[in-house]
Amino acid sequence: MSASGRVVVALDVGGTGMKCALVRPDGVVVHTERHPTDAARGPAAVVDTILDVAEGLAATARADGHTPVAIGIAVPGVVDEARGVAVWSANVGFRDVPLRDLAVARLGLPTALGHDVRVGGLAEARLGAGRGADHVLFVAIGTGIAAAHVVDGVAGVGAHGAAGEIGHIMVRPDGPRCGCGRPGCLEAVASAAAIGRRYAELADHGRAGAASSTPAAEQTSGAAVTAAVVAERAAAGEPLAARVWQEAVDALADGLATGQALFDVSTIVLGGGLAQAGDGLLGPLRTALHERMTFHREPRLVAAALGDEAGCLGAALLALDAAGVRDTDAARVPDHQEER
Ligand SMILES: [Zn+2]
Repeated sequence: MSASGRVVVALDVGGTGMKCALVRPDGVVVHTERHPTDAARGPAAVVDTILDVAEGLAATARADGHTPVAIGIAVPGVVDEARGVAVWSANVGFRDVPLRDLAVARLGLPTALGHDVRVGGLAEARLGAGRGADHVLFVAIGTGIAAAHVVDGVAGVGAHGAAGEIGHIMVRPDGPRCGCGRPGCLEAVASAAAIGRRYAELADHGRAGAASSTPAAEQTSGAAVTAAVVAERAAAGEPLAARVWQEAVDALADGLATGQALFDVSTIVLGGGLAQAGDGLLGPLRTALHERMTFHREPRLVAAALGDEAGCLGAALLALDAAGVRDTDAARVPDHQEER
């Protein structure tokens, strides 16, 4: 390892924790740290922590003989990347926080601010499961659903910093109401949270009507079931779980088919908690997506490869781009998931 090598400082700020790293221009991570966000303290305290942690990382880099050349910070919510402003975040409480300028003032290094899902998509497209593809759609499925469209290693931001809200494509006009206020958004039907809710709802309904219910419904406990448990039970052949899972798969396929009609990508990378279901999700989803393709070219559908490191690596990529350093084309290749 080059003792005087350049590194960037990368922070991925979430509602509960911050994943932080020092990353070389070739994408190799030389140091990692995690810190609590403790968002309940309010946005001003969170901003102080972000700047303190970034300063500490830069000091660690210098102490280890590296030269910190730029900072990349990823945050959730609406992010104006061009102005470097965290416009809005429900999780962290940001309202028009000029994080980039604050970091430049504190550390004196070029700083890039990015959106957590967009930088995660950037990392998957350039270093992870989408590596080698010029047109990638990264879809993160967790509590919500959001996407990043990455073309030639650059994620589209949109005119207002809000591109990629694939979770709010309407897929079921008569479906459950979404957190955004409209009925039947993809996120209200197929997010991990929605799958757990739907299963609990149907299981409770089954018990309420026990006289006429099926034996499977009688055995089913719906209380506080996570999407991962629904996936397990579906794989084990439980009829109610299989039904709920297939409903979610069909809705996801509708959303992805719309995404493919809009973007014509070669590769769709699925990330977020739900993608950990692996082939239990990818298998039926490939089938359902295939059924929806008419004249469109069918994209390759793969699971994300970088796990919860993706946001931090993506923040590092933004920082490298901001510093005018982009050597990651020759970077490490993480283990790829099985491709179809
Ligand atoms: Zn919505």
